[in-house]
Amino acid sequence: MTAALAPVDKVMLPSRSGRRECWSAVTTDGTWSFERQELPGTPWAVTHRPTGIVVDPWVGTLTDCRAYVASGEAQRDLERIQAHERGEHERDKACPRC
Ligand SMILES: [Zn+2]
Repeated sequence: MTAALAPVDKVMLPSRSGRRECWSAVTTDGTWSFERQELPGTPWAVTHRPTGIVVDPWVGTLTDCRAYVASGEAQRDLERIQAHERGEHERDKACPRC
């Protein structure tokens, strides 16, 4: 079974020439970007570009990032983080910032 994936463009592959090797991609609608430094055990950072908020799904692959956005989970986490920053909840188990 295949999960739906958010379409991306501008995928940058790590170059072997520099010391810092960084993967990055942006969804075709420009809303989300995915970045990862090419170091063992480094998770991907998923950024909501209009707000600059980084949600941390701790996923291991670009495919996981795209599924995370396509499933609506990234949007839900973003909304929880925004509610958290507005002080709208005391403690929410599903909130990445609590
Ligand atoms: Zn919270």
